[in-house]
Amino acid sequence: MRYSIFSLLSQTLRGHKGWTPAWRDPAPKPEYDVIIIGGGGHGLATAHYLASRHGITNVAVLEKGYLGSGNVGRNTTIIRSNYLLPGNTPFYELSMKLWEGLEQDLNYNAMVSQRGVLNLYHSDAQRDAFARRGNAMRLAGVDAELLGTEQVRAMLPYLDFDNARFPIQGGLLQRRGGSARHDAVAWGFARAADSRGVDMIQNCEVTGITMSGGRAIGVETSRGPIRAKKIAMAVAGNSSRVAAMAGMRLPIETHVLQAFVSEGLKPLIDCVVTYGAGHFYISQSDKGGLVFGGDIDGYNSYAQRGNLPVIEDVMESAMALWPGLGRVRMLRHWGGVMDMSMDGSPIIDTTPVDGLYLNAGWCYGGFKATPASGFCFAHLIATGQPHEVATAYRLDRFATGRVIDEKGAGAQPNLH
Ligand SMILES: Cc1cc2nc3c(=O)[nH]c(=O)nc-3n(C[C@H](O)[C@H](O)[C@H](O)COP(=O)(O)OP(=O)(O)OC[C@H]3O[C@@H](n4cnc5c(N)ncnc54)[C@H](O)[C@@H]3O)c2cc1C
Repeated sequence: MRYSIFSLLSQTLRGHKGWTPAWRDPAPKPEYDVIIIGGGGHGLATAHYLASRHGITNVAVLEKGYLGSGNVGRNTTIIRSNYLLPGNTPFYELSMKLWEGLEQDLNYNAMVSQRGVLNLYHSDAQRDAFARRGNAMRLAGVDAELLGTEQVRAMLPYLDFDNARFPIQGGLLQRRGGSARHDAVAWGFARAADSRGVDMIQNCEVTGITMSGGRAIGVETSRGPIRAKKIAMAVAGNSSRVAAMAGMRLPIETHVLQAFVSEGLKPLIDCVVTYGAGHFYISQSDKGGLVFGGDIDGYNSYAQRGNLPVIEDVMESAMALWPGLGRVRMLRHWGGVMDMSMDGSPIIDTTPVDGLYLNAGWCYGGFKATPASGFCFAHLIATGQPHEVATAYRLDRFATGRVIDEKGAGAQPNLH
């Protein structure tokens, strides 16, 4: 069923009784051309682009829970392409361009909102680093504007400019950045892939990878064995666990990232703001809740839940930047598990196991990458070659020293 003003009007006249489910609920077939492990944003986007761009439709997405139950439905929905390094800039800009046409491509309202992303700076050194990043972005054809204090004050007069411990000197603004409704992104990709014949298999946990002669030829699942010519991993925070089923040890650690939403408020903040002197970023959802988050937990964990020390840390930063937030009531708080790579950049590559492909290492920035990640992973699976904007995302770059370390933090995942 195609969604349009006409389908909406016709359903209105029929009392909205004729809507069909957004995707089917098929039983797994014994064999597929491609199995994608993980029904998060990246797995679903890969399925969509395999079907729509490469005509490969004998595909199953295997999800251990329900579609979108992982990080794609837990993030703070920020999308942007304000990267510094050549390995990252073209990839994230492709993603931004795909976001800009996504709703037409999927025939689904993902509520993509280019309301602007503003990174605040609080010192001369930070301003210089932001100026450098902005210049690198503009040289690569990405929009960037360096703002001074008064320009930021005009946009966000309620921030603490006059008594702050870390006075706001200005910000780097990407106007094309913004947000998208995270779970609608998962639903839109799932519906589009399903409409081309891809099977979405929910409540189907992959428990083993079947090997023959050094090649991956299928998976063991909680719904029985399934064979496949190609197997693609897109399981985010569970990447190390699933790769271990094929005998691989990845350069990835899993850490929890937490987020918060407040009670619904009238329109208050019309862009995304990140604090440059603490761990805090904030925007407002279309329902009115203030959506915000902070830094990852410093230790390894697979627990998808929050904890008190991070609440304190995030609220401290919130109050330091925007004292008025002290009057707002919090509604919910949650956590997701992040696949933190050793240089903070992702991996989209083949693996030493024939027939097994890897999409991982998204750290806490993989939501914005969802369209390009699926696009490039589908390209790799279909053609055997990396897409031209993802050639740097190799699994062996940690052995060869060709790391892509945006923060210059070294091989310490909790610092990226
Ligand atoms: C609190 C929070 C805030 C964030 N904020 C942002 C942000 O503002 N901007 C941004 O760009 N990024 C953000 N991120 C990061 C982003 O959400 C992730 O990098 C991205 O969603 C990861 O890709 P995914 O959507 O495919 O992951 P997921 O949605 O986690 O998908 C992986 C799927 O694999 C499934 N799976 C795992 N193991 C198995 C198995 N054995 N068998 C079958 N299925 C399995 C899981 O159930 C899961 O559904 C945030 C993350 C969190 C948690």
